[in-house]
Amino acid sequence: MSEEITNANFIHDFIDEDIAPGGDYAGMTVHTRFPPEPNGYLHIGHAKAICIDFGTAEKYGGICNLRMDDTNPTKEDVEYVDAIMEDIRWLGFDWGDRFFFASQYFEKMYECAVELIEKGLAYVCELTPEQMREFRGDLTTPAKSPFRDRPKEESLDLFRRMRAGEFEDGKMTLRARIDLTSGNFNMRDPVIYRINRITHHRTGNEWCIYPMYDFAHPIEDAIEGITHSLCTLEFEAHRPLYDWVRDNVTLPAKPRQIEFSRLGITNTVMSKRKLRKLVEDGIVDGWDDPRMPTLCGLRRRGYTPLSIRNFCERIGVSKTNSTVDYAFLEHCLREDLNESAQRTMVVLDPVKLVITNYPEGKSETFEIENNPNRPEDGKRTITFSRECWIEKTDYMDEPVKGYFRMFPGNEVRLKTAYIVKCTGCKRDENGELIEVYAEYDPETRGGDTPDGRRIKGTIHWVDAENSVDAEVRMYENLFTDPEPDTGDKDFLEYINPDSLKILTDCKAEKGLTQSAQTHFQFMRIGYFCIDKKASESSGRLVFNKSVSLKDGFKKKK
Ligand code: ATP
Ligand code: MG
Repeated sequence: MSEEITNANFIHDFIDEDIAPGGDYAGMTVHTRFPPEPNGYLHIGHAKAICIDFGTAEKYGGICNLRMDDTNPTKEDVEYVDAIMEDIRWLGFDWGDRFFFASQYFEKMYECAVELIEKGLAYVCELTPEQMREFRGDLTTPAKSPFRDRPKEESLDLFRRMRAGEFEDGKMTLRARIDLTSGNFNMRDPVIYRINRITHHRTGNEWCIYPMYDFAHPIEDAIEGITHSLCTLEFEAHRPLYDWVRDNVTLPAKPRQIEFSRLGITNTVMSKRKLRKLVEDGIVDGWDDPRMPTLCGLRRRGYTPLSIRNFCERIGVSKTNSTVDYAFLEHCLREDLNESAQRTMVVLDPVKLVITNYPEGKSETFEIENNPNRPEDGKRTITFSRECWIEKTDYMDEPVKGYFRMFPGNEVRLKTAYIVKCTGCKRDENGELIEVYAEYDPETRGGDTPDGRRIKGTIHWVDAENSVDAEVRMYENLFTDPEPDTGDKDFLEYINPDSLKILTDCKAEKGLTQSAQTHFQFMRIGYFCIDKKASESSGRLVFNKSVSLKDGFKKKK
């Protein structure tokens, strides 16, 4: 995956033709929809579809509906409906007052089915599921369907009685009468209604027959006046059926289906069923676990709406399914946070640095810019005193080659404060580092040397007098395999046991507890965000690592 991916968008090319004078939709307002099935939380793949559906409408000055595709009542839940709306709004899209449930159209769908039966284009079939499979035929053998020529009066009567609940689940189906010899098996008299006694989250027990997706979807689209029904590639082979339904029942509009590739991302899984499994098995801490590719998980991880929209824009729209490198998603986040995140110093693995020639009880202040890229974000005051926290890794007894940080005799810059010269350290009986010692040069306030002598190392620090304990959660890929669910792989075998590491003894600027900001660059380390949920429940300051400072994406290139 490279950044130079073409921005050409074949969907827009199709629409340009359609709305041009003489086109099928000439003079019409472009009208799209996003139709999630409310059986789980939205993920980054849905974000791609949302950007395409809402983004296309935006581009053409059109409109986009939000429709809960709730024709299959098994796993739907109101919890998901609310979360889906929240996530779409968070991404920055708006459906106005055009919010619908596919189940609103059940009566109309039933009428469409009756119309097909009356036209001799649908019939009630009494084959068992096993028989239906057996009679399906293959590429050289047509399907068999012994009920397809029954009188339409009989089908009409049976279909009415199916609805009235006279037959058991699975006993009968309604099938479209299309073509038993078609090379496209979706056209071999597909089932369009089945009996299924399941309570629906909106219509309750009003219905015991439910329409199949391929029959329902074109009807939903047409009722809403959709011009372009954009969906993923797996529906390509279903398009002839979409068109057949659209063209054979009386509907107020003739939507056009256009398919685009599904988004996959390395080292993760995307299907809701698999994501639910991770939640139910306790492998992650809920749908909004910061390791999840769900929008609520990414948001908690520190992803911004802009970073996700930029990502979706830049991966482009194509007809070939592809797996995008996770590093590219991170690249888009880093780019946004580099512009927008407040800078701060946080020590993840602290050791005390004592500046032995700095007067006890003295304290001074420094003004630092919140974000050098955005002077409008202003400055804030930080304090400095005799003791501060530095990273253990910023000290060595004997420097290795190229190490310019603390080691006895070496001068180092404490970022924005002073130049200090390391004088040694104290260790406990096990050799654990207890304290590091240094002397500061009072002539170097601000970090500049008056005589121009060169200081190679600069390290971050936090004033011990004004520090607060923080917990920092470091993340890695949830899966060790780049494609954990391709082929016949069992994705559960590739869970990364080290995907979460919790650092509990970190030191942050005290001011952060009152900050209105949520996203930060920890200088020299990476981008982090406050985990509100975890902070509130634990009573401590909890950060999630969003992404490292270094760009793994560019490096790989
Ligand atoms: P899943 O397998 O994750 O449950 P789905 O396709 O069943 O996905 P829906 O809720 O039916 O999920 O999807 C709503 C819309 O989002 C559909 O138009 C679908 O094509 C699109 N979509 C779902 N997953 C992706 C993806 N990975 N990439 C792009 N679009 C997607
Ligand atoms: Mg689905």
